[in-house]
Amino acid sequence: MREKGITDENVLRVMNKIPRHLFFDKVFHDKFAYDDVAFPIGAGQTISQPYTVAFQSSLLQIAKRDKILEIGTGCGYQTAVLCELEARVFTIERQLLLFKQTNNLLDQMGYRAKTFFGDGFEGKKVFAPYDGIIVTCGAPFVPEKLKYQLKVNGRMVIPVGEGDTQQMKLIVRLGEDDFSAMDYGDFSFVPMLKNKSK
Ligand code: SAH
Repeated sequence: MREKGITDENVLRVMNKIPRHLFFDKVFHDKFAYDDVAFPIGAGQTISQPYTVAFQSSLLQIAKRDKILEIGTGCGYQTAVLCELEARVFTIERQLLLFKQTNNLLDQMGYRAKTFFGDGFEGKKVFAPYDGIIVTCGAPFVPEKLKYQLKVNGRMVIPVGEGDTQQMKLIVRLGEDDFSAMDYGDFSFVPMLKNKSK
């Protein structure tokens, strides 16, 4: 990852420490055994690529005690990275089974993230505002509600696009109604689900 350009020492350190296979195996099983949503084959591998996790985590510029909202708990690997960076982590998953299993896993591993079953498009207003928001599924657009759950100077890292690839965007809330947006290249994510019935 260092060779690929990741320079954030804290991110490199915590990723080096976390046993990734524990998460990876689990999400892989879940997708094949229970998922009734059309996930592309191999989506688990793509999402769990350490480089993407490192890249998004670095862009957030997390400081200890920061409040971070994650959209798309999935297998919980990114959640663990955020916890190891000593953020206060709030994470939302749209699929009930994944939510339950990952909630248990994170608990067993001693991670203190607050996990929610719900829709990431809504965010989690009761705990807002956040220092950072990280979206780990491909969003069709930048959800307005998420933008307004950021603190002023808060940062949102979100892959945007509905095709096979998404543009990684960094949104910074500069003022009450003032946001900047920067692009950080193409990545590939499973889609952010809309109108899921259960
Ligand atoms: N951060 C995860 C990424 C998992 S893949 C990890 O480290 O493994 C993306 C996840 O986003 C999937 O689990 C998917 O179910 C979830 N997701 C999709 N649409 C969502 C939505 N609208 N709200 C919350 N989670 C969503």
